[in-house]
Amino acid sequence: MPRKKKKNKNLLPCVPLRGVTIFPYMVLHFDVGRDRSIAALDEAMLSNQMLFLATQKNTRTEDPNIEDLYEVGTISRIKQMLKMPGDTIRVLVEGLSRGRIIKCHETSPFFVVEIEEVEDEPGNRNILEEEALMRGLLNVFEDYIKLSSKASPETIISVNAVQDPGQVADVIAANILVKTEDKQAVLDAFDISERLRTLYDILSREIQILEIERKINLRVKNQMDKMQRDYYLREQLKAINKELGMRDDLSSEVDEYKLKVQNAGLPEEAFDKAMREIDRLAKTPFGSAETGVIRAYLDWIIDMPWNIYTEDNTDLKKAAAILADEHYGLEKVKERIIEFLAVHQLKKNMKGPIICFVGPPGVGKTSIARSIANALNRKFIRMSLGGVRDEAEIRGHRRTYIGAIPGRVISSIKNSGSKNPVFLFDEVDKMGSDFRGDPASALLEVLDSEQNYTFRDHYLEIAFDLSKVMFLTTANSLETIPRALLDRLEVIRIAGYTDEEKINIAKRHLIPKQISEHGLNPKSILLPEQSVRKIITDYTREAGVRSLERQIASICRKSARIVVGTSKKQIKVSTTDITKFLGVPIYKYDKINRQDEVGSVTGLAWTVNGGETLSIEAILLKGTGKLVLTGHLGEVMKESARAGFSYIRAKADSLGVNPDFHNDTDIHIHIPEGAIPKDGPSAGVAMTIATLSALTATPVRKDVAMTGEITLRGRVLAVGGLKEKILAAHRAEITTVLIPSQNTKDLDEIPDNIKRSVKIIAIDHLDNAIEQAFVTPPQSKRLLKAQTGGENAN
Ligand code: ADP
Repeated sequence: MPRKKKKNKNLLPCVPLRGVTIFPYMVLHFDVGRDRSIAALDEAMLSNQMLFLATQKNTRTEDPNIEDLYEVGTISRIKQMLKMPGDTIRVLVEGLSRGRIIKCHETSPFFVVEIEEVEDEPGNRNILEEEALMRGLLNVFEDYIKLSSKASPETIISVNAVQDPGQVADVIAANILVKTEDKQAVLDAFDISERLRTLYDILSREIQILEIERKINLRVKNQMDKMQRDYYLREQLKAINKELGMRDDLSSEVDEYKLKVQNAGLPEEAFDKAMREIDRLAKTPFGSAETGVIRAYLDWIIDMPWNIYTEDNTDLKKAAAILADEHYGLEKVKERIIEFLAVHQLKKNMKGPIICFVGPPGVGKTSIARSIANALNRKFIRMSLGGVRDEAEIRGHRRTYIGAIPGRVISSIKNSGSKNPVFLFDEVDKMGSDFRGDPASALLEVLDSEQNYTFRDHYLEIAFDLSKVMFLTTANSLETIPRALLDRLEVIRIAGYTDEEKINIAKRHLIPKQISEHGLNPKSILLPEQSVRKIITDYTREAGVRSLERQIASICRKSARIVVGTSKKQIKVSTTDITKFLGVPIYKYDKINRQDEVGSVTGLAWTVNGGETLSIEAILLKGTGKLVLTGHLGEVMKESARAGFSYIRAKADSLGVNPDFHNDTDIHIHIPEGAIPKDGPSAGVAMTIATLSALTATPVRKDVAMTGEITLRGRVLAVGGLKEKILAAHRAEITTVLIPSQNTKDLDEIPDNIKRSVKIIAIDHLDNAIEQAFVTPPQSKRLLKAQTGGENAN
């Protein structure tokens, strides 16, 4: 420990300092107001201006004793005194050296203390240690400065200016330390090393405190910063949203639309229209309902296949193979389709008549249309016109309607994504018209190749070219198709199938299709031909194969359940099993019940569902020669019954009928089965034969069915739907069918196996029918009677 040299005893006036500590080599000014202090100053000024400055232990002590002062203080010289207003004096002093109060000689009028002055003595000091300590101190000082804002640039300069370690410590302590105790501790340390250490400790402690302070501040600041930042951003966002933000969204949407429209390859009209709409979108206030309407419209325009085509298959052989593969039979139909496709290929456009498949339900009209699309490698669209009454369904609503959308023609084409699909209008005969406009005329516009290259949907407003679309149509009957439309159609009839054809269709198409649709293994159901035949005869009565397909589906469904529920791998459905699967036969009873009867004739009718057998009954009643007709008959049918009635009356004699029967007899003709629509002239022959049978009490053959219109003179005229009628007769196990001889040209259409099992007899006069229909014709009975009578007469 270095030693300090003690100097000669000194008596000095002492001034107590409050909250201030003065170090040697330091200039300081402070204000003095207390009397004792002023007196001490005066005393000093009178002598050598030296005085001793010691800090009060407690700042608040107003009139301290000597014990209230720290022992160690600084011997100082007064450099300047300035009288201040209000009896205070501002003093400028310079610290010279440390001193310790040894004794207080006087306390009044001021303290006079005996001081032991201590001065550092270089010779006895451990220079190296001091140097090391000083460097250490300077380091912490540097750290301290970095953390604290208290050190001014002047402090740094003054620290740098001194070399002596003791002085360095003093300068730092004087300038940096705040607490009186800390300053005093440095002042107390006479020994330089100890002084350096003390200050080092104090600064280190201060640094730690500052560090913690800084961390706390940082955390608070971070929190504040985050809150402020969030707040600021949110406010900004609000402002942006309000002023610009949404418009920004909108403008980027506008740009997006522009890009899409440019890339959509629109024709000029559509392009201009779309651009105008985009401009309108840009100008429409954000959030208004109108923007939604414009957007929807633009989406429609952009999504239309303005320039997208599928490539046609031009290989007719391949097309024919596809048609053959997907449908059984229908040879003529397929041939006509191939011819039609060939013509189209040569003409390279879709102009010309439009095919209309006409026939009862379930004969494959729709599915053959689909096959045409497959054969051509085109997309397929089907639109059913059944029940369509509103023109808007075809042509759309104007955009002024809320929630308007394009018609089904345009929307189907959009969905197909192709400009040249095969477009099937199903059931054109079922279209109606009412106050909502005439869909037929809109349809005509769609189908007309002279107009449809600029088809304007009400919604879309711009022309869309439909001329590349291949239109097809189907109908059950031609009767209700408007004339103008009919003129444009090329009719292909599909009459219906024989049982043999149905069996083949079932085997090749319906059964495999239903098995796979029910997720079954192809081998899991075995449906022998006999079973299929049983389904056809006992569970269906139709020209097409729709119910047959439904019954097969039902068998598949039940089989699927068995396959899942048991370990059975294959289910064989024998004829006896059919009842288990499908319940009791629906049509069997009908067929066995028939027998040769008086007044009961089997007629044949054509309906939109194909051919039907009609049971026609006639009985005699007491009356006045009236003809009563019941069974929901149409006007034409009633007239035709009357014509037959008149014919019989006119020819009563030769027909073996009592010529006066009308005086006391009414005739009632009834045709049951209310579900079958009954109109048209083709039951004329059958009704007349029934009447004749009743009048002559002659039974009619149960295995004969007949069709034909009659004239008043008994001539038999042609009828329609011959193939359907003959097929119906065959289904009903009729073996002889009487047809008008004018219809023999239609016999080509009748499959050979039917011709083999059904005897078809052409008649051109009622007399021929009479010959064939009765078990024993009435005339021959009469002839017989006449012959016997004659013999008797003889
Ligand atoms: P339509 O349109 O005439 O009412 P669909 O085309 O709906 O009849 O035919 C009904 C079902 O019968 C379809 O599953 C169809 O595939 C099938 N079908 C009809 N005729 C045939 C056929 N000749 N060959 C194969 N399947 C047929």
